[in-house]
Amino acid sequence: MDDYALVLNAGSSSLKFCVFRRPRTGSWQLEARGQIDGIGTAPHLSAKDGHGAILTETKLEDSVCDGRAAIDALASWLRWKFGKARVVGVGHRVVHGGARYDRPVLITRDVLADLYQLIPLAPLHQPYNLAAIDRISERMPDVSQVACFDTSFHQTHNAVTKLVPLPKEVRKSGVQRYGFHGLSYEYIASVLPDVAPEIARDRVIVAHLGSGASLCALENGISVDSTLGFTALDGLCMGTRPGALDPGVVLYLYQGLGLSAKEIETILYKKSGLLGISEISNDMRQLLVSDAPEAKLAIDYFVYRATKEIGALAAVLGGVDGLVFTAGIGENSPEIRKRICEASAWLGVQLDTEANLKNASRISTRQSKVSTWIIPTNEELMIARHTGALLGLLQAVA
Ligand code: ADP
Repeated sequence: MDDYALVLNAGSSSLKFCVFRRPRTGSWQLEARGQIDGIGTAPHLSAKDGHGAILTETKLEDSVCDGRAAIDALASWLRWKFGKARVVGVGHRVVHGGARYDRPVLITRDVLADLYQLIPLAPLHQPYNLAAIDRISERMPDVSQVACFDTSFHQTHNAVTKLVPLPKEVRKSGVQRYGFHGLSYEYIASVLPDVAPEIARDRVIVAHLGSGASLCALENGISVDSTLGFTALDGLCMGTRPGALDPGVVLYLYQGLGLSAKEIETILYKKSGLLGISEISNDMRQLLVSDAPEAKLAIDYFVYRATKEIGALAAVLGGVDGLVFTAGIGENSPEIRKRICEASAWLGVQLDTEANLKNASRISTRQSKVSTWIIPTNEELMIARHTGALLGLLQAVA
């Protein structure tokens, strides 16, 4: 029987997955990549094979209403598609690893208990990541599972960068800047020497612009700063999160408007950012085609914040040699890239208009002081590599 390994990225309304297979003789291959989205509303399973051909587009039953049910639905589809397979390892994306987990870890009962303690630091993601681990443990108690953290890649930040300047007794409870999207940045750093060797060892700002958005400052492929901090709320304007906010606003919501902690959490994680400004959508595609002034304001603010923080990270790095766009907006929106690049012209970013419109790999002119690129991220592959390394299983994953 062939060996199989799974990579899972479980969110509040979606379960992204990759399936790797190792034949009896041969190396690991990507067999399927897909997602169940609309969990709890209109659940839908889509998957492609390793060459991008569609394997399935299926409406699922309404009973797929939470993460556990999504795992069960995925297991049913996998059994139907691949038969009685032997799963030898499961790698998970886990958003928060706190101060302790500076690298991927084999999941044990104690590790899981630790990770549950971190839920208040990432309420929008961590509970769903951990629910997937729990469900896999129940279904396949003998299969090894690995947690790969979005925070680990930023453990290289220095003491000043990590500092949240509050009293020591508060800091002792774990209040520090962690940074997120680390699996995405780690993947970009790992491919830079092949894709853009001229900047791989230099000062590079990576813009991960998706539903969640952040920037990372890399020096020689190592993270030196990031716009996300203690939680995934800081920094850039995001789909439903505001990004950097005067903490006095939070006090006002509580004391002045009398909102509960839960209501404030919902505002900060689910109702702000592009959605809160536009009151139309958190989806950049919808805002870009809208004529509403509120949509324009939301896009203007998104671009303004990204540009401002690029300037801040350029100051941290003492200059910038490379700029990389990645994730949904960064990889697919010529308009947003153009606006950010034009506003960053003072740093020496000179966009190649044609290349940008074509979503080419290098999108700056030959003369541009800052070499600018689009590099599609691949957090799932990064998790597969870590899982393989830790379990000694997937070494051949490219
Ligand atoms: P996540 O993985 O955090 O859910 P993604 O990286 O998939 O997010 O990014 C989702 C965002 O990318 C959405 O705001 C979506 O509108 C945006 N996006 C995807 N394709 C395009 C496009 N062609 N133009 C503009 N925005 C796009």
